[in-house]
Amino acid sequence: MRCDEPIDGNFIMHKPGTDADSVQMEDVLCDFCHRHWTADQPMIEGHQGSCVCGRCLTIAYIEVVLNSADCSPEAFKCRMCLEGDADREALSRAGEAGWQSPVDEGAVICRRCIELAATALEKNKDFDWKRPRQ
Ligand SMILES: [Zn+2]
Ligand SMILES: [Zn+2]
Repeated sequence: MRCDEPIDGNFIMHKPGTDADSVQMEDVLCDFCHRHWTADQPMIEGHQGSCVCGRCLTIAYIEVVLNSADCSPEAFKCRMCLEGDADREALSRAGEAGWQSPVDEGAVICRRCIELAATALEKNKDFDWKRPRQ
């Protein structure tokens, strides 16, 4: 994936009602807080059905982007893009920060996915999600 690809194409936005035929809301869980998808939160899907909710994305954005904190384990594979340390190193993103779920230590989202998901979600007019500001 290159930076100049259309950002919206990388994530699937879930909205109550849109996928009613195929997806039940109670079947969709956020990988990062394990909460069921509810009508008050958008849900963003990465690769292989992994999901992050708007609430977790807000927390991750504050920590990693605004506070420049690295909340990831030393080595991690991003749950959303499935890239591991070797992949990031190959893409000149070695040592990139990430955010680790407080309830599932195996669930980590890399900084790039946090920013891409925030941008995609913010542009989506179906939601009034806004990235947190300092
Ligand atoms: Zn969540
Ligand atoms: Zn990622």
